[in-house]
Amino acid sequence: MKGSLTIVGLGPGAPELITPAVTDALKDSTDIVGYSKYIERVKDASGKSFHPSDNREEIDRAELSINLALQGKKVVVVSSGDPGVFAMASAIFEVVDKKNISIDDLSIVVLPGITALLAASARLGAPIGHDFCVINLSDNLKSWDILKSRVIAAAKADFVIAFYNPRSKSRKNQLSEIYNVLRKNCKSDRIVIYANSISTESEAVFETTLSEADASSVSMKTLVIIGSSRTKKIRNTGYIYTPRYSGVEKN
Ligand code: SAH
Repeated sequence: MKGSLTIVGLGPGAPELITPAVTDALKDSTDIVGYSKYIERVKDASGKSFHPSDNREEIDRAELSINLALQGKKVVVVSSGDPGVFAMASAIFEVVDKKNISIDDLSIVVLPGITALLAASARLGAPIGHDFCVINLSDNLKSWDILKSRVIAAAKADFVIAFYNPRSKSRKNQLSEIYNVLRKNCKSDRIVIYANSISTESEAVFETTLSEADASSVSMKTLVIIGSSRTKKIRNTGYIYTPRYSGVEKN
């Protein structure tokens, strides 16, 4: 029988933020592949074969899941958040592309999940209510020059900027250097938010400004959001939002 490969997102952490489509795909699977911490989140599904692996082994994991599906298994690959946002979907399609795998050999479906930015945004209010961009600070797949040029362009264009993977084992000072780049390219009163472990028991949100921002309290579980020049806090509610307009006068 033709196997299937379903690439799913488990959302930011809370079980109720997993979509019904993902829950159904997990129930229907024979094999579940993913980073061991994410597999832990779905382990109560009985009668399945689990294939946990280390976080860094994305291509090995992609190859394993494709091979299992080619053997006729119903494979689900789990990512946190959304599988298309700095996660397994690209790694799998890289292998599918390289190995010339045909849709006649296996069916591939991607099921979305709530990415960390959307969960953090809802928690904070509406910080991405106007134009925003998302940058991966992990440096193992792109050069520092490319990263820096993208940060400068985003700052100059006055986007709200979200940084995924703000802490890198190989470059501990990277976020501080990024703050210095930002300070040279936009006003230092911009709001900076650290959204930690959103929707989990250890959820914590911290707010500062670009001039005060200290990168040392950031971990791999933090999403860093830099407000645009318009992002602000409503004093009486604590909510942070970015107005829907810029360069257009509104009453
Ligand atoms: N595919 C995931 C992102 C994987 S990259 C998604 O769509 O959310 C891992 C990074 O995502 C972390 O370093 C952190 O910056 C962010 N992240 C993931 N879950 C998070 C959460 N619950 N709260 C805050 N940030 C989170």
